[in-house]
Amino acid sequence: MRYSLRCLGCGTRCPMYFRKQLCEKCGGILEVDYVGRPGIKELRKDFWGYEPLLPRGEYKHYKLGNTTLLPSVEEGLFLKLEMENPTRSFKDRGSVVEVAKALEYGYDEVVCASTGNMAYSVAYYAKLAGIRSTIFVSRNANWLKLRNIRETRDAKIFRVDGDFTEAQRRAIVYANRKEAFLVGDYGYRKEGQKTLIYEVLAELPEVRNVFIPVGNATLFSAACKGIAELKRYGLSKASPRLVAVQASLTDPLAVAFKTGKHVRYQKPLTDAGAIAVGYPTYGDEAVAGVKATGGTVVDVTDKEMEEERKAFYREYGLQVEMSGVASVAAFRKVSFEGRSVAIVSGANTLKP
Ligand SMILES: [Zn+2]
Repeated sequence: MRYSLRCLGCGTRCPMYFRKQLCEKCGGILEVDYVGRPGIKELRKDFWGYEPLLPRGEYKHYKLGNTTLLPSVEEGLFLKLEMENPTRSFKDRGSVVEVAKALEYGYDEVVCASTGNMAYSVAYYAKLAGIRSTIFVSRNANWLKLRNIRETRDAKIFRVDGDFTEAQRRAIVYANRKEAFLVGDYGYRKEGQKTLIYEVLAELPEVRNVFIPVGNATLFSAACKGIAELKRYGLSKASPRLVAVQASLTDPLAVAFKTGKHVRYQKPLTDAGAIAVGYPTYGDEAVAGVKATGGTVVDVTDKEMEEERKAFYREYGLQVEMSGVASVAAFRKVSFEGRSVAIVSGANTLKP
């Protein structure tokens, strides 16, 4: 679809052909605002069927998405198995959109910051598209994940002496200096991540609660945006509660939700690497989304995630990392009526 870009920081508007993901005036994130209506009449579970709902780009139609929605052993809970994506996480949905934009804009390199899973996903799709990838990872990034990326995807990796927020800062500096396309938890990734909630609503329109793990809150924020856009286009009337799930040891959203203040930085202390983000990029948007949908923010301890991970393997024979089942652990801690979906993710290594 055609669109313009709007800065979430200062409101500046940029045209569709603006080749960057951040505002030149204030450094804020640019949000995609669509113009017109998509050329589809109904929502079906079909990843590339959602292309009319995505920003225009040079898409390569790789196989991804359309992941299984599995009834769990818990009454009323369905599991969205995102480890079925090529790099075993929902990140692939965003990476294909970002790489499509990089190709459209004529870039031959993408750069991002990551705690591990996004790095592999970005490197995977960049390599498929024949462009280079450079990744800045936090000090606590999982070495097995990094080894996989180096060995299979030829990505250039820089380990930063700091946390994810510092890795993100370094990626921005690199993008400006080297004329590489900055990808990561920004507008175009958010557009791709919307396809997850589209699939859930296509398959289970009566869903009342969706449990979403939160690192940078891009997936959460994407779910809010996706639901609002479907309503506007008349493609769905669903209004599920959105539940943000964080680790008790790194819970800036939970604090903001309780105190009513803006999200503030926390030192990430959880061992659940994929959600160990001290200052979520879309934190304030996510808190607003929680409130607007009547949802809540749930904290789960590292011990609860670790136990859930083992139980998940015993029950379903599927290996996931700790953060991958944070949403299932969170489901046990609240009692909302109606059918629930928990977003379950894997990791690009067989070890947690
Ligand atoms: Zn701005």
